[in-house]
Amino acid sequence: MICYVGLGSNLGERQQTLRRAIERVKNIPTGKLLRVSSFYETEPWGVVDQPNFLNAAIKISTELEPLELLDELQRIEFEFGRVRRKHWGARTLDLDILLIEGREISSERLTVPHKFLFERDFALIPLKEIFPALKCKLHGEKISRVNGSPIDFNFKLIACVDKNFGLGMNGKLLFRIPADLKNFRRLTLGHTIIFGRKTLETFPNAQPLDGRRNIILSRSTKKIFGAEVVGSLEELFNTLNIAEENFVIGGSEIFSELIPYATKIFLTVVDAEVQADVLFPNVDEFILRDVKIFDGFEFRRYSR
Ligand code: ATP
Ligand code: CA
Ligand code: CA
Repeated sequence: MICYVGLGSNLGERQQTLRRAIERVKNIPTGKLLRVSSFYETEPWGVVDQPNFLNAAIKISTELEPLELLDELQRIEFEFGRVRRKHWGARTLDLDILLIEGREISSERLTVPHKFLFERDFALIPLKEIFPALKCKLHGEKISRVNGSPIDFNFKLIACVDKNFGLGMNGKLLFRIPADLKNFRRLTLGHTIIFGRKTLETFPNAQPLDGRRNIILSRSTKKIFGAEVVGSLEELFNTLNIAEENFVIGGSEIFSELIPYATKIFLTVVDAEVQADVLFPNVDEFILRDVKIFDGFEFRRYSR
């Protein structure tokens, strides 16, 4: 099922809490993070003598039943130090199920759509950002978009795949097409490239690429001359600059980690079917905006 979850925090390091909670949602059994909104600074609603909130919304998919999902979300609130004191009071983290596609629920523990969703701009505005078809009217609450969401890094994924989205085989890329390599260089030169340690091995002499800021996302902290090594997404987010162009260049695990936060994808699709042991992640959450066809391959550009 497809589900939209609203996040809120008004105690502690709110921005870090939201980013970490969004990452944590990926670990819900069968959970997939599909899309993330901006972060919004909002004034308290209902009980007003408390700090401002940071709010966001995410789109996820899961095979869990709605009540099991609620259990998982409450577990995450608890892990993040949520203490249930008074209703509508201050909290480190609140995770509400806003909508579930094709479902309406009205039980003791769970009401979906959320019972106040259509009265709350702080829930509707982030939701509408990731679900533009939503029909709703707003109420003029004071809400401002702030930087801090991982989508603000404007990650651009770039890869070369076969017709079945195959990416690599036995640690090697499937193709080396001069026009693709040239296009890759043209797009990335002067900017930041983010990649995994196995992808480093596919570079000439296994060395960082010239003329670009090289950032390796890896659990191993071994130093690499000419590159910065970061051990987690939070560390990556703290290292990156939102004014920069941030290209994610592989491999498949890094693409999967960052695709929910990406805004664009550049794919070179080769007109061939080749055996592959790693695939590019599903691009269904993106819209194909542009295709340029050449002899034997095409350049595709996707965005949200
Ligand atoms: P509000 O629900 O008005 O946003 P709140 O988030 O402060 O208030 P909580 O204390 O977090 O309220 O939750 C109270 C109960 O609401 C939860 O224990 C849960 O059983 C119930 N609940 C009902 N519908 C939902 C929903 N759609 N999402 C999350 N919790 C829900
Ligand atoms: Ca709530
Ligand atoms: Ca709640």
